[in-house]
Parts: sequence; C-alpha cells; structure tokens
Amino acid sequence: MEDCLFCKIVKGEVPSTKVYEDEEILAFKDINPAAPIHILVITKKHIESLAHLEKEDEALVGKIYGAINQIAEEHGFKEKGYRVIVNCGKDGGQEVMHLHFHILGGKKLGEKIV
Ligand code: AMP
Ligand code: ZN
Repeated sequence: MEDCLFCKIVKGEVPSTKVYEDEEILAFKDINPAAPIHILVITKKHIESLAHLEKEDEALVGKIYGAINQIAEEHGFKEKGYRVIVNCGKDGGQEVMHLHFHILGGKKLGEKIV
C-alpha cells in the first residue's frame, strides 16, 4: 500500500536494519526498542491487522512463527526465551496498520498482562 510505512520498508524506500528475509516475510529491528532485543516480523503483503487476516493468509502466519524461531535461534536467544506480541486495532494499541509481530527478549520481561 502506497502510504504504509511498513510497505515502504519492504520496498526499501524507508531504511531498516534487516534481520531476516524470505519471499513472503521480512524482519527488522524496532526503531524504538522496548527491550534489549526488539524485532518486528512482518508479512511483505499488506495486511492491515490481525483482524483483517483472510483464510488464505493463515498458512503465512504459520510461516511467521517458523521465521520467529529461526531468528531466535540465529540470534542466540531461543534458549533463554522471548515474548511475541501482536497489537490489533485501537484497543490493542496498534499504531502501524500493517500486520506485525513484535519479538521481545534479551532480559526477563516484566509487565505481564496475561
Ligand atoms: P504497534 O504499536 O504494535 O503498531 O508497533 C509499531 C512499532 O513500529 C513500534 O514499536 C515502533 O517503534 C515501530 N516503528 C515505527 N517506525 C519504525 C521504523 N521506521 N523502523 C522500525 N520500527 C519502527
Ligand atoms: Zn503495508
């Protein structure tokens, strides 16, 4: 989508520090990290939010979790653990309207809600 920040990152129009890329998925460092490790994993395809996921996208979400584990392994935090968060819509606190998965780690995370 033209005016979408993360689509611009996919197209290389906005710079990012990439940590993983394949045909359908891109992962890069969050610009404002909330933990020592804070990586965003996105679909290259523009999907507005989790709530906008179509049936045909469900396999892609499975692949995202696979990519997350691969990133955790390659970056050496798989053993210690990490948290994956998807903010969805207004109440969920989503600010960038392009589906993304936050990976947080590198310390014992606090503020557990669930
Ligand atoms: P959310 O609040 O779930 O929509 O998360 C959006 C995330 O995108 C926030 O953690 C921001 O710090 C991050 N962010 C915003 N702009 C950029 C950017 N240009 N590069 C990397 N991360 C970004
Ligand atoms: Zn987008």
